[in-house]
Amino acid sequence: TVKQNSVNAYAFYDVSVMDKIIQETDITNSMTEALKTGQFKLFLQPKYSLKTGKIESAEALVRWVHPEKGIISPNEFIPLFERKGLIKNLDYYIWEQACKTMNKWEKQGLGVLPIAINVSKVHLYSMDLVNKLQSLTQTYGIKPRNLELEITERLFCSDSDLVLKMMNRIKQNDFLFTMDDFGSEYSSLKLLKQMPIDVLKIDQEFLAEISLSDKVKIVIRDVINMAKHMNILVVCEGVETKEQADFLKETNCDYVQGYYYSKALSVEAFEKLLITQD
Ligand code: C2E
Ligand code: MG
Ligand code: MG
Ligand code: MG
Repeated sequence: TVKQNSVNAYAFYDVSVMDKIIQETDITNSMTEALKTGQFKLFLQPKYSLKTGKIESAEALVRWVHPEKGIISPNEFIPLFERKGLIKNLDYYIWEQACKTMNKWEKQGLGVLPIAINVSKVHLYSMDLVNKLQSLTQTYGIKPRNLELEITERLFCSDSDLVLKMMNRIKQNDFLFTMDDFGSEYSSLKLLKQMPIDVLKIDQEFLAEISLSDKVKIVIRDVINMAKHMNILVVCEGVETKEQADFLKETNCDYVQGYYYSKALSVEAFEKLLITQD
């Protein structure tokens, strides 16, 4: 009957809500557990200078090495962590691993290599961010300029006044800002004008179209030139083919990053690459 069906529907609804709650309690627990037991690993993707052809910095990218599920990609858990308010602790952990690694390299005579860290939106609404960054750089003897903060363009769309205030505070402390995924939103140009940006990272989806159209090439070339006129460094991410690399060499692009050069590596593998690159 209709009545029975609707009862069943409610019962079903209740079960799925319960499932969700259990799952979400689960994710909080397993995330805390994973942090404690070192399941989150710092991976580094080299960033190459187009002028020297050498690795000049790296981007810190987290990997969850799960005991049962294997390596889980950040796209699968970062949005969930953000919703559950878990992202801050994970970010702090990864930033600290990055600072420790830079400190180790300097001690080992590998020199100073800047690392770019990804900064989730939630940090920009809390005063903890400035303190956290200062304490990290002081503890590990790192110049703030060598810690680049990557903020995705998607975050800038709303509340930009608040974000702008926070960014200016951080810039007063000499940290660098990268606008990540540039070109993925319609408001790109306005943001470029407003925000205290040091580095522009052109979105990989943009680049993926290079082989498709000469129009895209014109836009990329012009965006790069515009950034250079504004004294902003330019990185192209997601370089996958020789064709893309050759095109970028003919532009004023400063750095490239992508599978064509190297994927993100464990710290050990990254160090090997660094030592043998000459
Ligand atoms: P993102 O910051 O834009 O990082 C670039 C992503 O593109 C990385 O994916 C990288 O592995 C991937 N990639 C690099 N080269 C290529 C290429 O040539 N082709 C293609 N198709 N992809 C390439 P990953 O590591 O899976 O990270 C995904 C996103 O997760 C990152 O995008 C970033 O927004 C976020 N993320 C990663 N680690 C962290 C973290 O520690 N904290 C926070 N808050 N977010 C993170
Ligand atoms: Mg990034
Ligand atoms: Mg990006
Ligand atoms: Mg991207």
